[in-house]
Amino acid sequence: MPASIDYRLLVSAPTNKSEIMPLLTATGQTQQALFQAARATRQAAGVDTVTLRGVIEISNYCQKSCGYCAIRPQNQTMDRYRMDANAILAIAEQIVAEGIATVFLQSGQDPKSDPIVFEAIPRIRRLGVGILLNLGEKSHDTYNRYAALGAESYILKFETSDADIYQQIVGTSLAKRLECAQAIRRAPMKLGTGNIIGLPGQTLDTLAEDILLAQQLAPAFVSSSPFIPNEHTPLESLGVGDINLTLNSIAICRLLFPSALIPAVSALEKIVKGGQRMGLDAGANVLTINFTPKDLRDQYAIYSTSRFVVSLDHARATVASAALQIQPAH
Ligand code: SF4
Repeated sequence: MPASIDYRLLVSAPTNKSEIMPLLTATGQTQQALFQAARATRQAAGVDTVTLRGVIEISNYCQKSCGYCAIRPQNQTMDRYRMDANAILAIAEQIVAEGIATVFLQSGQDPKSDPIVFEAIPRIRRLGVGILLNLGEKSHDTYNRYAALGAESYILKFETSDADIYQQIVGTSLAKRLECAQAIRRAPMKLGTGNIIGLPGQTLDTLAEDILLAQQLAPAFVSSSPFIPNEHTPLESLGVGDINLTLNSIAICRLLFPSALIPAVSALEKIVKGGQRMGLDAGANVLTINFTPKDLRDQYAIYSTSRFVVSLDHARATVASAALQIQPAH
């Protein structure tokens, strides 16, 4: 394909499943055209800088038992921890000192951390930063209270749009998950959502349905993450998710959600060195830096006990290698 061809003319935003499916499997020049179209879309939407988030993994207790996650309570090889509000605030101050504008609190689905989060949100807000939460399924009242205290956004990934696969792997209903997603929007908080690529039973058809489901939810943030087999879980012997399917899904999401925040997740880097740069090249525009203290983050094995931990230096180098800029904090 001659270099002078404008790739944006070759790939436009798909409008239905039969247009999404061939893009998911794009390879070679077609895949490069897809990525170039995604980057052009990101630029045209004015979101061509990389937003950094600082994540604090505040608790590794969880009520649920997702088949891919080592935080599930059945895994007794892991020491459990729950930070208090003072510990969270001290780390939030480090995040702010690094010039990062979003403090991201993440944990297992741990009701006992709710009062701690209620105390922490206003204190973090006083530092002048935004607050993003990823704490699982909560009551509508709890979501409302997070929002009223000052949390702006909440990530609740649906993981897969196939209700049977979801029920089988996660052990609870997809309908309940989607109801929570709506409650988050009504709270009101901006919604982040997304899927995992490489779960047992998924097909191209279900992956295309994932993208259509994300469209229905109209998220502000959307992600595609490759499956990573996790020690001490029922899915530990499964292979990793396909990186090309994941990158193509990221690029399709960019075409469909031009101004969304789309992360290049750490699991990409876990699969292949330079994987997060590949995510940025496919249209992503977010990197999440891990600020959990090392002794605790070793116990936060949501993806793998040997996961890739994103440092600020790694993020800066990744952004530079993609010839992008970091979004200034203010
Ligand atoms: S993925 Fe989240 S909800 Fe599921 S077991 Fe792990 S921490 Fe709990």
